Amino acid sequence: MPELPEVETVKRTLAKYLIGQKIIQVSVYQETVIKIPDVNEFKNEIINKTITDIDRRGKYLIFGLSEGYKMVIHLRMTGQLVYGEKTMPVKKHTHVIFELSDGRELRFTDQRRFGRIWLVPEDELLGVSGLCTLGPEPLRDDFCWEAFQSQLSKRQTRIKALLLDQSFIAGIGNIYADEILYRSQIHPERKAASLSKDEAARLFSEVQSTLKEAIAHRGTTFSDYVDGRGEKGTYQNYLNVYQQLGKKCPRCGADIERVKVGSRSAYYCPGCQK
Ligand SMILES: [Zn+2]
Repeated sequence: MPELPEVETVKRTLAKYLIGQKIIQVSVYQETVIKIPDVNEFKNEIINKTITDIDRRGKYLIFGLSEGYKMVIHLRMTGQLVYGEKTMPVKKHTHVIFELSDGRELRFTDQRRFGRIWLVPEDELLGVSGLCTLGPEPLRDDFCWEAFQSQLSKRQTRIKALLLDQSFIAGIGNIYADEILYRSQIHPERKAASLSKDEAARLFSEVQSTLKEAIAHRGTTFSDYVDGRGEKGTYQNYLNVYQQLGKKCPRCGADIERVKVGSRSAYYCPGCQK
């Protein structure tokens, strides 16, 4: 699933090409992808609107449109949003095609069909499900050490599960939760409140540095993820624990293991994550 670094990379690649472009036409081949409004209204409303900016909140992409509208897209498991020539072969599972004023297209493709698109007036943006309960953005000023530490000290939740909780912190999923905990040398099953001040400080710092590095490498591609031009990320070459079962820990040489935390797997090093 695309997480913060992947969605940020899609945002950056698309922003280069899409800002200032008008949406000339839209074709919807899978109606369930359009969450709000109904498909006919979506088509009528979006045509002739200009893309004024592209933002990201957690794992959501937020397109600013003329006349005070926002289009929100969540890629969920396997969604892809790719800009390119009309002559690109249309991939299987292409659900929406936006025709743009430069004669090219933006295509939304999603094999698993969990991805969703909303079109709302600006003042109804927080009505998009999941947006208004998002926690702080880890790479923006609202990610505050005092609040982070205070939250940790009150929570009996296991730390891996807490990092995945989008209302605690926005944008982290399975890949980066495991990598952040490895780099912080914290065991994924530890209760949040059991972390010492030093451990909490390491975690706070590694949340930011891990996500920044992953963005610098344009995200992680295991199977589906591509950026806004269809290019794969490269951070899969730098992972220490995620999906590295049976490999040696780069820090202490122990075998990487996997454990269930709630319903999710966590990869970790039993040698150096305490
Ligand atoms: Zn180790």
